[in-house]
Amino acid sequence: MGRAQGGGGDARVARAGRAGAARGRARGQARALGGVRAHCGGGDAREAEAPTNPLSRLCHTCHIVRPQRAKHCRICDRCCVMMDHHCNYVNNCIGPKNRVYFFMFLVCITFSSYIAIYLAKQIVDAFGWTILRCLFALLYGIFGPLFGFMLLTTIFLALINLTTNERINKNRYMYLKDEKLDFKNPYDRGYLKNLMEYFNIIPPVLLGIDQNEGELFATRVV
Ligand SMILES: [Zn+2]
Ligand SMILES: [Zn+2]
Repeated sequence: MGRAQGGGGDARVARAGRAGAARGRARGQARALGGVRAHCGGGDAREAEAPTNPLSRLCHTCHIVRPQRAKHCRICDRCCVMMDHHCNYVNNCIGPKNRVYFFMFLVCITFSSYIAIYLAKQIVDAFGWTILRCLFALLYGIFGPLFGFMLLTTIFLALINLTTNERINKNRYMYLKDEKLDFKNPYDRGYLKNLMEYFNIIPPVLLGIDQNEGELFATRVV
């Protein structure tokens, strides 16, 4: 009887132990799932939690582990390597493969805006003001400096090897921080090399990218 009661007690302890272990596993899975969901949703916030953990860069939409600087674009609905930003003017993400064309686009619209302003001034000086010419001057008076600012910002970011996305969210990305959590860009190789990398003259530095991610970098992420 005593053995039976003892056996029953052992069984209860064993069941309680299994139940506790199951609860522990469930909590662990819930935490992991929560982390995964967090990654899938905002994409970038949990990179701040575990930058060295590849799962922190998991994209559930694209079913890949993203390379370090890749971001998921909600408009294009895919991940983009070294995503700078999604440009509504060209209706596409700006990344390593098209950023040179985007740069030339900015140069063209900036200079064409200032040429338009100059021509508008010449026309006004010759023929005087009209409503249409006022609107024309106002339009390019706004867009000329705006495009110029965008061009200067793009050049500045190319010089320091930072994307627009990283500049805006630099406090959220652990890979842009040092041991003291101060800002530090590990991809910065100096102005000249940064510019050469921007214009695809030399390959980018792929810090923390292993062989498998390199394959993803080349084949599955745009
Ligand atoms: Zn994605
Ligand atoms: Zn996009």
